[in-house]
Amino acid sequence: MENKDDVLFFDGCSTVELAEKYNTPLYVISETEIVNRINQLKDSFLNKYENTRVAYASKAFCTLAMLKICEREDLCIDVVSGGELYAAIKAGFPAERIEFNGNNKLPKELADAVDYGIGRIIIDGPQELDLIESICKAKGKTVKVLYRITPGIKVDTHDYMITGKKDSKFGIPLDEDVFFPEVKRAIDSEHVEFKGLHFHIGSQLFDNSTHIAATDVLLDLVQEIKTRFNYVVTEINLGGGFGAKYIDESRKDFSYFIDPMMKEIIKAYEQMDEKMPAVVIEPGRSIMAEAGMTLYKIGSIKDIKGVRKYVSVDGGMTDNIRPALYQALYTGDVANRMNEKKDDTVTICGKCCESGDILIRDIKVPSTTKRDDIFAVYSTGAYGYSMASNYNNNPIPAVVLVKDGDSDLIVKRQTYDEIIENNIIPESLLDN
Ligand code: PLP
Repeated sequence: MENKDDVLFFDGCSTVELAEKYNTPLYVISETEIVNRINQLKDSFLNKYENTRVAYASKAFCTLAMLKICEREDLCIDVVSGGELYAAIKAGFPAERIEFNGNNKLPKELADAVDYGIGRIIIDGPQELDLIESICKAKGKTVKVLYRITPGIKVDTHDYMITGKKDSKFGIPLDEDVFFPEVKRAIDSEHVEFKGLHFHIGSQLFDNSTHIAATDVLLDLVQEIKTRFNYVVTEINLGGGFGAKYIDESRKDFSYFIDPMMKEIIKAYEQMDEKMPAVVIEPGRSIMAEAGMTLYKIGSIKDIKGVRKYVSVDGGMTDNIRPALYQALYTGDVANRMNEKKDDTVTICGKCCESGDILIRDIKVPSTTKRDDIFAVYSTGAYGYSMASNYNNNPIPAVVLVKDGDSDLIVKRQTYDEIIENNIIPESLLDN
């Protein structure tokens, strides 16, 4: 991001020109920033440790262009639905580099995954193995599987972003009478190849102690599986969750999380006198969040004297649900007034019919801010576009990819016709 002559530039592009050319609201994604983050992952993980993989959590931002970038950069991807899997296959992403997560994978989704030759299925609950086995048996195929565990760790993030505590819809419980019989069945199964264990304890984390604690829980299970079943786990998946900078958080390097976890794994496998397993991580937000911003046009401004000044923009919770869903905090700027003194405090709100449709509370902006100015909300690259909805029949915005001053449209703006295209008026109502 740069300020050039009062205007905000992103990856070499004027945000004001982007807003004019592509209209607003507009998601702008910087390819340079994505590649920078991937290069950091290469330095701190892929090139530093042998037999490692990064499976980008495509839920953070799942578009064909992003999937192509992941393929070009030699990443794997993690999908959590038939829709994400379909997009990956349509983008030409190699199926063997796809890992399938999710707490209720549907029979059809699993069958498609097996047909495509998916790389891994991460089993998330007690009945899933049966389902996978019956599909593989019918098709005469086998598939590589891991078990996602709930390590029972309390992490420091919003409650809706915690996924590894015992009371969670995700993962297999570690109860003695559930976990070990499940693993034994997978080891003995003719239809699956049991590879190992997975955890993902939550999102937007800045303290490595919970990742380390979860690794220790997982490694104790690895040891126990060896003792009980004489079976050595050959793959460990440490999930994602590494925090991104939204406002003023000081983001930690990937190595801050990765090195201590790798140290624990190396130590445990040395103690068992076994070959190091493959190690996989699944970052989403930490690759994408800061690579994106959303541009809006300012509309009505309402100053309630002594109370609050509302500045409305032409999008809101339909293109960024995170403030309403998790009280997520964002910051931004009036993109065409970058040199002006920020001498007014306003609340940036959306245009949806919900009082909770507030993007940023109490942000400083220039008092000259007016209708038709462009407002940029920063760090919206992850879970913005991918969580967008059509509430109030607002079209899902366009997405542009920017790089060194060039821009390419990668998702077209939805039209009103596209919003209603699946609506059907039944015969009985046509006479009215
Ligand atoms: N892996 C799994 C299984 C997840 O559920 C998630 C997010 O929900 C991720 C990875 C990515 O998390 P993050 O975007 O915080 O890195």
